Amino acid sequence: MSDTTAPSNFIRTIINEHLQNGRYDRVHTRFPPEPNGYLHIGHAKSVLLNYGLAQAYNGKFNLRFDDTNPLKEEQEFIDAIIEDVRWLGADWEDRLFYASDYFQQLYEWAIQLIKDGKAYVDDLSAEEIRQYRGTLTAPGQNSPYRDRSVAENLDLFRRMKEGEFPDGSRVLRAKIDMASPNMNLRDPVMYRILHAEHPRTGRAWCIYPMYDWAHGQSDSIEGITHSICTLEFEDHRPLYDWFIESLGIYAPQQIEFARLNLTYTVMSKRRLRRLVEEGYVSGWDDPRMPTIRGLRRRGYTPEAMRAFAELIGVSKANSIVDIELLEHVLRDDLNAHAPRAMAVLRPLKLVVTNYPADRVEEFAVPTHPQDKGNPETRVVPFCRELFIEQDDFMENPPASYHRLAPGQEVRLLGAYYVTCTGVARDAAGKVVEIHCTYDPASRGGQTPDGRKVKGTIHWVSARHALDGEVRLYDRLFTQPNPDDVAEDEDFTANLNPNSLEVLTHCKLEPNLASAQVGDSFQFMRQGYYVKDKESTPDHPVFNLTVGLKDTWAKMQK
Ligand code: ATP
Ligand code: MG
Repeated sequence: MSDTTAPSNFIRTIINEHLQNGRYDRVHTRFPPEPNGYLHIGHAKSVLLNYGLAQAYNGKFNLRFDDTNPLKEEQEFIDAIIEDVRWLGADWEDRLFYASDYFQQLYEWAIQLIKDGKAYVDDLSAEEIRQYRGTLTAPGQNSPYRDRSVAENLDLFRRMKEGEFPDGSRVLRAKIDMASPNMNLRDPVMYRILHAEHPRTGRAWCIYPMYDWAHGQSDSIEGITHSICTLEFEDHRPLYDWFIESLGIYAPQQIEFARLNLTYTVMSKRRLRRLVEEGYVSGWDDPRMPTIRGLRRRGYTPEAMRAFAELIGVSKANSIVDIELLEHVLRDDLNAHAPRAMAVLRPLKLVVTNYPADRVEEFAVPTHPQDKGNPETRVVPFCRELFIEQDDFMENPPASYHRLAPGQEVRLLGAYYVTCTGVARDAAGKVVEIHCTYDPASRGGQTPDGRKVKGTIHWVSARHALDGEVRLYDRLFTQPNPDDVAEDEDFTANLNPNSLEVLTHCKLEPNLASAQVGDSFQFMRQGYYVKDKESTPDHPVFNLTVGLKDTWAKMQK
């Protein structure tokens, strides 16, 4: 059953061994988000890794919410996470679970541990528990309540559950070893009292299991074979194993991998929340955010996310991935699939003075010119007045400038050759109009005499253009490591003040009128753009996804 088609990694090696030596005869993974925020690209890596393994081994994949903390968790996040995981293409079939589904079972298992002398009710305050815990170099001290009788523990724990005690007055702890070099084994808290409403169980419970007590048992209940998590849980594995062994229940195998870090990006939910709450971005789905919804709104595709996850693989060592690699993979996907369109972002009028004022011609231009096997074309109207990019004209150009300039001839993409014959200026002397003549023999972009022009520029018919807005996004941070700050500053000091530029007077090819929110295009010669949800019928809005220039490919040379 071992899979040989996909690139190997250390996790596959472990799984193959397990299948060979009979430890497991199947593969069952899960993605276990805590519903206390929106998913980011690091979570995407974990989703795609877990789902990818299940697929590769013909196994199963669960989506399970680790909803053990009612104070921070909300239905809104549950709904958003479901939507994001689905968008990534991971399929949990009918296996959507919640740790809260297991609250009763976890309670009964806690009673079993009490009866076995392996758990006790502690009356120390949170602060005292911290003090008794010791440090990495000094052992902890036993709580004075550690040797309560089983009967007393059972009675107190039942009364905790029944709501007799206020929040924080007592906890249930595992009785392991206060001198263990692994701090996680120094009698960790299993239950705390919280008179709080839970998004799913309402007021049914006033004691809540700690994550460490719920997590491994949830995996066990679901028959997870390989419980894949990030490196910071390595030190928790002995505790999870202790719980499973003490209970004598089915044992999954935890495997840790290094979390994804990206240059120019902050990833933790806490920091992302700050960006939103302090107004540095417009919300969780701001196209500059590394959240799944931000990336989606930016124009990322699930295919690009999967290709990226494949490419970066998994490892045991922490590292930082260059954001250029992510952009490179996205660009590859968009280059292959995004239809082409012409859009003028900073318009300058061009008048073809020898072209009849009432005439309109239609040019069929290839929609997928990068794909020679795809003959699809679209029709763009041409007439006497056009818009071109301000950048595509220079009055006094250097010799290397091949675009439009007085006396210079260029090709209008897919249409005619035009030669600049003059300009019109406003009162301040600024060029407001370019005058050109066209060569009727150059229709379609070639001339019978075979003469060459060095420049080709894009254009949009003034009469037919769609008015629209384009939002140009740049990196949110100016430093590869946003934490590179002076001692009295934090990561917000590295925010890029120019990460968003809004252009409101863009001229778009009329075909873009039928674009739907989420549709991506290559605006020829500019980059990839996606239609934004803030578009209205009269005012389409497009977000810059990524430019055409492949900085990753360049970095590799
Ligand atoms: P954050 O620290 O960013 O707030 P978290 O770890 O608290 O994230 P959870 O909802 O607990 O978020 O995580 C769900 C799963 O996603 C866990 O298995 C976790 O290990 C994994 N995960 C979180 N961040 C990353 C990352 N940067 N790279 C890979 N996996 C990650
Ligand atoms: Mg977490």
